[in-house]
Amino acid sequence: MHGQMMQLPLLISSLLTHAERHHGEQLVVSRRVEGDVHRQSFRALAARSRRLANALTTLGVQAGERVATLAWNGHRHMELYYAVSGSGAVLHTLNPRLHPDQLTWIADHAEDQVLFFEASFLPLVQAVAPRVKTIRQYVLMTDRAHMPASTGIPNLLCFEDLLAAQDDHFEWPLLDENTASSLCYTSGTTGNPKGVLYSHRSTVLHTLASVSPDALNLSSRDVVLPVVPMFHVNAWGLPYAACMVGARLVLPGPHLDGKSLHELFEAEGVTVSAGVPTVWQGLLAHVETNDLKFSSMRRTIVGGAACPPAMLRAFQERHGVQVLHAWGMTELSPLGTAGVLKGHQLNLPEDQRLAVQAKQGRAVFGVDMKVVAEDGTELPWNGQASGELMVRGPWIVSQYLKGEGGDPLVDGWFPTGDVASIDADGFMQITDRSKDVIKSGGEWIGSIDLENIAMAHPGVAMAACIAAKHAKWDERPLLIVARKPGATLTREELLGFFEGKIAKWWTPDDVVFVDAIPLGATGKMLKMRLREQYGNHLLQAAGEVT
Ligand code: ADP
Repeated sequence: MHGQMMQLPLLISSLLTHAERHHGEQLVVSRRVEGDVHRQSFRALAARSRRLANALTTLGVQAGERVATLAWNGHRHMELYYAVSGSGAVLHTLNPRLHPDQLTWIADHAEDQVLFFEASFLPLVQAVAPRVKTIRQYVLMTDRAHMPASTGIPNLLCFEDLLAAQDDHFEWPLLDENTASSLCYTSGTTGNPKGVLYSHRSTVLHTLASVSPDALNLSSRDVVLPVVPMFHVNAWGLPYAACMVGARLVLPGPHLDGKSLHELFEAEGVTVSAGVPTVWQGLLAHVETNDLKFSSMRRTIVGGAACPPAMLRAFQERHGVQVLHAWGMTELSPLGTAGVLKGHQLNLPEDQRLAVQAKQGRAVFGVDMKVVAEDGTELPWNGQASGELMVRGPWIVSQYLKGEGGDPLVDGWFPTGDVASIDADGFMQITDRSKDVIKSGGEWIGSIDLENIAMAHPGVAMAACIAAKHAKWDERPLLIVARKPGATLTREELLGFFEGKIAKWWTPDDVVFVDAIPLGATGKMLKMRLREQYGNHLLQAAGEVT
């Protein structure tokens, strides 16, 4: 017997329509490349998205074709989110921090047809355009007054001219909810980039789950500023979530340094923000050196890399900003777990509460997870046993674009490549990525734990722990450290700092001080590069290799 409820497809356009009808006056505030702060209501956002959908039709964009963007977080990018997906095409957000060779490869692989880009990325587009094969039309996301005189890009169109020529009536098509809506490439820290193709259904379900109280807990009372870029896993879904709940959205544009962000937080009364730890480090450093406060910020979502406990303490104890530690992947749309405390954990002594918050969190409904041993057997949820984290759910990849890399699933589960444990309360903790694990004499050492300790030292700005080759133990931990400006920290002081905090044999063998830790396109430490550079450091120090 079938239920007798309506069969309405889950569509991205319905998020925009809801925002327009129920939160029409709510604002999207954007700091733009042009230098101004732009404000528009959800009603205007919806109308402009419809104009843009009409413009896409006049550009000949067909259902399922890929429309690429190279853009910051801003209202025009948001209009593309809705117009492209809503009209049945696929939004492909390119990451402008990639090298032109990589971008060319990705755009060709995705067979992008049209590229919308912001003026900041003109040199990048000039480098890519002569080589890329499929892009037939370029649109600069600005108005006529800001169009450069000559760009060398043939037949370049102006975004605002395109919109001005269109009507704002457009019927969003009633698509099959499994229609592809957007495309993101994994950032390639673990090999060649692969395309993850989201659907309307997966996106709406992911949004529903992510706004809930035990996940990101978003509502119409929030003012949300995603620092996480709209070119990185759809800014963790926040442009969709804001429309679903009617939250005000503040989009920061190109300036993501501590000073610019803090000014925007204060000027716009931001209550919730989201970003990777490296961004928060810049912000905290700015706030602390200038003795500033957060007057409206209540919560910050930290994910993409492990949130060091020292950062948790700084936000919560010094600034009264609650940290929500979350874990996800491009392959998970991205949200998998969120570190919201359970009722019985609220009254734990502070140190224990912080230890729970430093874990990556509990699975949100829709994501099932387990950790498995090397032979695939499931490990107990005791907070100790660690193995590869496997996940499954309706917003998790089932195969990569064009079947790249073969079938990624194992018995219906997606192997994440993260090494983790799960405790009795269901809190998952990542000890490492399988590629970053240090195997010393056959035993695992968790690099994240060691980094967290180093980062708690007041003289450390950033620390990466890598596996360095070792004659006797095969691999041993090596710390690569960037000191805080003015800090005089020595190797001995830092190694001494580990005493009593971990098992002695986990203590790193050596420290290499560097000016800066190399970061990848999504702000994560490039450990692969560090391994290439310093993987032989201990052998060299011992005179085993030259
Ligand atoms: P890439 O896999 O190319 O780095 P993603 O942005 O999809 O691109 O990164 C997902 C990975 O980031 C996860 O598999 C995990 O290793 C890491 N990650 C994400 N969130 C966290 C977190 N809170 N703590 C530790 N690692 C995290």
